[in-house]
Amino acid sequence: MQASIFNLRVPLPGDDVFLMNTLTDAQIIVSSDVAALLDRGGDDSALDQEARQAFRQLEENGFLVPSRDHDRQGLNDYLAGVKSSRTELNVTVLTTLQCNFACDYCYQGDHGDYNKFADKMSLETAARIATWIEREMDRVNPEKFVLTFFGGEPLLNLPVLYYLAERLWQASERRRLPQMLTIITNGLLLTEAVVERLLPFGLRGVKITLDGDKETHDRMRPLRGGQGTFDRIIENIRRIAGRCKIAIGGNFDESSVESFPALLEFLRTQEFADQLVKVNFKPVVRPGQAQPLPGASRPSLAADGAGARTTLALTPVAADGSPLKPLNGTCMTSTGAGIGATCDSCDFLDDKMAFLRDETRRHGFPTPDGVHNGPCHVHHTHAHTIGPDGSLYACPGFTGEKGLSTGHVDDRLDPLRQAARQQFDRLSPWNACGDCAFIPVCAGGCIAASHATLGDMNTPACHKRAYESAVISLAHQSAGAS
Ligand code: SF4
Ligand code: SF4
Repeated sequence: MQASIFNLRVPLPGDDVFLMNTLTDAQIIVSSDVAALLDRGGDDSALDQEARQAFRQLEENGFLVPSRDHDRQGLNDYLAGVKSSRTELNVTVLTTLQCNFACDYCYQGDHGDYNKFADKMSLETAARIATWIEREMDRVNPEKFVLTFFGGEPLLNLPVLYYLAERLWQASERRRLPQMLTIITNGLLLTEAVVERLLPFGLRGVKITLDGDKETHDRMRPLRGGQGTFDRIIENIRRIAGRCKIAIGGNFDESSVESFPALLEFLRTQEFADQLVKVNFKPVVRPGQAQPLPGASRPSLAADGAGARTTLALTPVAADGSPLKPLNGTCMTSTGAGIGATCDSCDFLDDKMAFLRDETRRHGFPTPDGVHNGPCHVHHTHAHTIGPDGSLYACPGFTGEKGLSTGHVDDRLDPLRQAARQQFDRLSPWNACGDCAFIPVCAGGCIAASHATLGDMNTPACHKRAYESAVISLAHQSAGAS
């Protein structure tokens, strides 16, 4: 037996060690002599009874494996399982690419006039989309149907949003499928009336973006006329609190990051504070600034015989980046190049991210651990994003690029879409990641970010250091809870 390449070890105060295997997701705290069994490998014949028991426990949890090939096969099986999973049919619908905001990181880049010309879904297209989704429900036969409305600002097209929510609810009911509906919105138009109207059709939650404290948010996310939006969004949250789940997202850059603790402090004092089910902040990633994996790097957070620790470059977060790559209207708070995520997998982080995660916890809000990020939707065959014209995309990060549409709800076949479909089917950026222990939870990172920042979907835009700090934080949290 030998140590799995997917082991992570974090030394804890005293004699303890946190062990995690990212493939099996086993997480245990052991004494250092038990952790040393991983380096010893071999078999258990020469061990005393107690050590033998520990050895077997390590083996049962995937920390000890027969060979590296066993690990690679396990990874391949796991990723194939993720790809073909029918647990859920997951569809993100962009009701419009229009937006009533002029966000700093979006508007300045490429969206100067898209409010006038951007696509808006018609009811006829919505009907065709619903028919296509119903067909997928029958074809995939999933256990649940997850529907997300996104944009642009999805609430700018309420007729389509209501139509799809209602029709797909009925379609789900007929198939005894739970419909789980979420809206990702800037929050300005999120009234009680909207929430009440959608609750009977499976509305589970809303995700709203706040980019710092009032002053900073109003600078980062003003209306097109320049007016601030913070107060109105907070008022809307106050009014809908208790009726559906509310998640807060936020995007920071160097100019805004310091204001987030003040935002957390503000949120903590609000009467709706305990209604916030998730609070999660992410850096704005400026395209063109990521660095690919150095060919020679052999990433390893922890020992496992891997020797020296390798630090890989994070995408820098800069206030003044190179020109933003056009997304043609897809909201950059939630797509690969912007970046936050509809999927919440785009945890493209840096040291500030770890700081904000700790701050978020310290203020008593639930937040993702930063380790369990993926594999994201782009790797799931039964996860789709649909643009306002009915074009299909592999994930929201590509919706602005019609040349990367992978199909259309009217089943039209054209060489470009077929080529894009094949390109996404063949994606395997993790092949460039060597024996990185994070592959099962990262899978080579965000493809949309790789495409936008490096010009190649199969070249990981690596954020290993962020994973490393997240697992250290997870270890200390586990130790605190045990
Ligand atoms: S490729 Fe990026 S934007 Fe697309 S689903 Fe994955 S993490 Fe999200
Ligand atoms: S992209 Fe992800 S899987 Fe690849 S080396 Fe970086 S952290 Fe590891």
